[in-house]
Amino acid sequence: MHEVLSRVFGYDSFRGQQRAIIDHVVGGGDALVLMPTGGGKSLCYQIPALVRDGVGVVVSPLIALMQDQVDALRDLGVRAGFLNSSQDHDERRLVEAEFLAGELDLLYLAPERLSVESTLALLDRGRISLFAIDEAHCVAQWGHDFRPDYLTLSMLHERWPSVPRIALTATATEATRAEIAHRLRLDDARQFVASFDRPNIQYRIVAKNEPRRQLLELLRTEHEGDSGIIYCLSRASTEKTADFLVSQGIDAIPYHAGLDAATRRANQARFLREDGLVVVATIAFGMGIDKPDVRFVAHLDLPKSVEGYYQETGRAGRDGLPSTAWLAYGLQDVVQLRRMIDTSEGDAAHRRRQSMHLDAMLALCETVECRRAQLLGYFGERSDDRCGNCDTCLTPAESVDGTIAAQKLLSAVYRLAHERRQKFGAGQAIDILLGRSTPKVRQHRHDELTVFGVGTELSEAEWRGVVRQLLAQRLLAVEGDYGTLVLTEYSHEVLGRRREVRLRREPERARPRQAARRADAAAELSPEAVPVFEHLRAWRARTAKEQEVPAYVVFHDATLRQVATDLPATPAELGRISGVGENKLAKYGESLLAALAELD
Ligand code: ADP
Ligand code: ZN
Repeated sequence: MHEVLSRVFGYDSFRGQQRAIIDHVVGGGDALVLMPTGGGKSLCYQIPALVRDGVGVVVSPLIALMQDQVDALRDLGVRAGFLNSSQDHDERRLVEAEFLAGELDLLYLAPERLSVESTLALLDRGRISLFAIDEAHCVAQWGHDFRPDYLTLSMLHERWPSVPRIALTATATEATRAEIAHRLRLDDARQFVASFDRPNIQYRIVAKNEPRRQLLELLRTEHEGDSGIIYCLSRASTEKTADFLVSQGIDAIPYHAGLDAATRRANQARFLREDGLVVVATIAFGMGIDKPDVRFVAHLDLPKSVEGYYQETGRAGRDGLPSTAWLAYGLQDVVQLRRMIDTSEGDAAHRRRQSMHLDAMLALCETVECRRAQLLGYFGERSDDRCGNCDTCLTPAESVDGTIAAQKLLSAVYRLAHERRQKFGAGQAIDILLGRSTPKVRQHRHDELTVFGVGTELSEAEWRGVVRQLLAQRLLAVEGDYGTLVLTEYSHEVLGRRREVRLRREPERARPRQAARRADAAAELSPEAVPVFEHLRAWRARTAKEQEVPAYVVFHDATLRQVATDLPATPAELGRISGVGENKLAKYGESLLAALAELD
């Protein structure tokens, strides 16, 4: 096991539970592995497949990725192949022949292949060392990525009872885990559950005021030249945001389900292959993003659930280097999502579930506690109170008594919506509290209300924050297409002084940025190493182009950083660097050392 780890993959030690998992599977045991993205799941089946007799069969829904995965393995000297619908007959025959001749270590299969009897017959004729079921949450019916094809995987056990199976996933609440085990007939499998913490990701959630300007500032000050993903809810806003970034000199492309298949494929391929490209996407972009060096994930709209948020932000920093998860959210998001839920198809139970998901997401946004602790707590994991690498830890937000402010707002809403039966949104209520004599205020004689002008102690932005938080706490609700504010069954407890309201007060703006920059600095290269790293990146881009593979397939950023710091002079020294295995050394060693020598 260890010999394979160092010779083939070039790593010196196992990470987390890798050793225990690999031991178990090499010994013929079934396993269910829950590990966050970037945790190192692939080695858990790749090494057993190399150690055990026969071919490891990997079922994966990520068809677009198979070519890259197989290229990366072949680059390491592993004999890998795949079978999926993108191949023509001849290509398929070639792989099948290799499989039957025992000339493969790993065979990647799209799940729908396993519904075809001829594939099953093929597998019967070869020798299988293990089945790996990647992205196992696809079998869970209530998840985001449900694949009907995955349901057929339960037959693997019946047809090949003596072949060990290992199912792996990065998303699983308690309920999903049970569902996966049950549907894949893995009830007796040993479960390996790693911490879901992604310590290298810095979580930040900010109040949205001018989202594009805020986004631009993030990119300019912290992520110049980095690869990243920006998520928006609508197709139109992905296009507009990408255009805006391009107009600001940032290399950005859109991605959404409305683009034709060829453009989508081309944009995804560019993102995987190129360094420093930004993709602006709807959630349709995600499956198949195996790129290790995504440095930031930004959300311009509120995700609908904490699971979705965790999964999307999880695409940042698979390589373990510092990365940012940044979300801008505002009042409009809450109004819009609540409306979407109210008008959605499906029964009351479905709406209630969606509504619970949204509440959990809002609670994460409005917390004054550590974001990471709250996020992990949502997945049933206990952690330290303060992680030191999220915005609330870096610049603690204050929790203040907001009962009086809440009463003022709720009483304005009461007068408008319940006494006068008028339909007004947050804007009008805030204008009234601030005592603004706008035409709309005069027209409806709202300046005669007792609450007119009673809220001048807060700014407009602060009042919007109050509205948002009361919505999040269900002390206020929105109705109809225009976001009319109305009271809820709990509002009266506040108005009747029977309930205290805690509100989050946003920290000063200047502080988080400073703290964030300090947090990044620790992981930064020394000043002398920076130009070397850039030079190596250029070498890697040229090499990747020649080989027609993504840049990270040649070497990961982490490996290039180590090279830039250690400056190896001989192949032996280069071979000791993490990520440089036997095959890579033979293939790229000379060229890389020559590139380094150019700098002398
Ligand atoms: P996952 O599939 O869990 O998201 P991967 O298997 O892609 O994660 O691994 C994430 C990254 O960590 C990859 O770049 C991989 O090469 C690296 N990695 C995995 N195991 C080790 C290890 N034991 N030592 C060093 N790097 C590792
Ligand atoms: Zn924290």
